[in-house]
Amino acid sequence: MGKLTIALDGPAGSGKSSVAKQIAKTLGILYLDTGAMYRAVGYDILKKGIDPLDRERVESAMKDIDVLIRFIDGQQQVWVNGEDVTGKIRTPEISKAASDVSAHPAVRMAMVELQRETSEQYDMILDGRDIGTFVLPNAEFKFYLVASCEERARRRHKELAERGIDRPLSEIQREMEQRDYNDSHRALAPLKQAEDAVLIDSTAMTIDEVARQIIDTIKGEVK
Ligand code: C5P
Repeated sequence: MGKLTIALDGPAGSGKSSVAKQIAKTLGILYLDTGAMYRAVGYDILKKGIDPLDRERVESAMKDIDVLIRFIDGQQQVWVNGEDVTGKIRTPEISKAASDVSAHPAVRMAMVELQRETSEQYDMILDGRDIGTFVLPNAEFKFYLVASCEERARRRHKELAERGIDRPLSEIQREMEQRDYNDSHRALAPLKQAEDAVLIDSTAMTIDEVARQIIDTIKGEVK
């Protein structure tokens, strides 16, 4: 691991990525968005015309799927098989494909290896579902971020609307609940709070407030 490793886990829409970006900026460290890796695999699987739920075909396709993470001026780019997919993976279709492919052990193990390697090189905050429990069980700092289902769906609705994607709130909430269910019920490294993670409920908090609480906790312990 790098000198400073912060694991930030939680369900979709809990605010992880906004909070992680803010913390990375304040502390001058890198932010690794691990969901982007599963999204890149989901993107490539759909592009190949494979059903993301078809474990056998997905696992066999993984041999030819090369995910690469680059940091340009501190900003993460994700590439798959030589294609920069950074701006193409934030759609509801890819969210679903990412969740489906992420349940297959060969996909998870390949991405986990990439996450471990990357975190060894830099001080960073990683966000995901299994960072504190499985990827980096020895991370110095672990946080688990939650928010009510309604609030998380409202945030995702707003975020999609800002990008011109108009979906009914009820549909977003239903898809999100389905994805959380998948993520917390898969056999390998499910979404779960690590025993030693600090729980933060962001339902009624701003991004700044959550980031501040995490930074204060870290500074309180690093004396
Ligand atoms: O965080 P994000 O919504 O971009 O993640 C997309 C999907 O990737 C999640 O629903 C989850 O299934 C999967 N994922 C995972 N483990 C991680 C990060 C994301 O299984 N560490």
